[in-house]
Order: sequence, then structure tokens, then C-alpha cells
Amino acid sequence: MSKLRLATVWLDGCSGCHMSFLDLDERLLAVAEKADLVYSPLVDIKEFPPDVDVTLVEGAVSSEEDLHKIQMIRQRTKILVSLGDCAVTANVPSMRNMFPLKAVYDRAYQENVTRDPGTPTKVVPPLLEKVRPVHEVVPVDVFIPGCPPSADTIFYAVSELLAGRSPELSAKTRFGA
Ligand code: SF4
Repeated sequence: MSKLRLATVWLDGCSGCHMSFLDLDERLLAVAEKADLVYSPLVDIKEFPPDVDVTLVEGAVSSEEDLHKIQMIRQRTKILVSLGDCAVTANVPSMRNMFPLKAVYDRAYQENVTRDPGTPTKVVPPLLEKVRPVHEVVPVDVFIPGCPPSADTIFYAVSELLAGRSPELSAKTRFGA
């Protein structure tokens, strides 16, 4: 039987959810027996490929780049998974939502800068007015709360999905640590 195609994506998050994924340790080998990792910040593949079976998304949607990326990924993925509180609720990145966007830029690039203050117009992707959880911009199939979700929870969820089942996560997850 051919392997399924698994991807992981890092939007606006701290990478803690990917660290928890890496905490699968030797269980990564069990995942690798069932799926090829076809895109991830953990591997050197530049383009998100077509026909991905399962994509785990860490982080909220904060920038225009995040928005375009998750829309493209949704089109190319059968099962899209919000991994962690930032993807599920927008969590920490959404703390800026209580301020106007200009105030956010000014705080980061003017008020706290001692050398050459100025809002960047290149390299840094333009921010969206508000940070959004993933399901507010594209349909999401599975939610795994936690900050981060434990390796045990991620392994259970991924194993179930790769086996063609829907993981029952309500008793295994909670928001926050
Ligand atoms: S959910 Fe927590 S661990 Fe995951 S990216 Fe957000 S802040 Fe980091």
C-alpha cells in the first residue's frame, strides 16, 4: 500500500507545537512507516505540493502571506488540522487585536527602536488588520487544542488520521498548557 502524504505548516506561532511534534521521538518512525513528510519546516522542501492527505497547521493567520499560504494549502489538502491554540483560537498572536494596526506597527518599529526607526516596506509581509484562527479563513477538519498539544495527543491524532479514522480528542485535550 502506498504511503499517505503528510505536511506540517508554521504560520504565526512560536514553533512550540512543532517542538511537541518532534517530541514524538522514536514514534516519528511509526509515523514515517505510514506517511511521507512532503512539506514541513522540519525538512528542506521549498514548495507546498499538491495532493497532500493530512496537513498539521501551527499558528494563527496574521499576515497577507499567512492568508495566501493557508488558502493555497487548503486547496491542496484533504484533511486540514489546526494544531495548537494559536491555530484553533489565534491565542497569543491575537493579543494585538485590541490595538489598531498602526499602533502595532508604531510600537514595534518606531517607539521601541533606537536605530533607524521606520515601518518596513520590504521583506516583512504586511500584517492583516486582525489576527484570525485558521478556521475563520478556511474550513478546518480537525482541531487539536493545547499550548502546545502533548506529543502523546499529536501521536494519537496523527495515527488515527493516517488510519482513516476521526480522532476523538475531547477527553485528551484542553486549551492552554
Ligand atoms: S499554541 Fe502555544 S506552543 Fe503552539 S505555537 Fe501557539 S504559543 Fe506556541
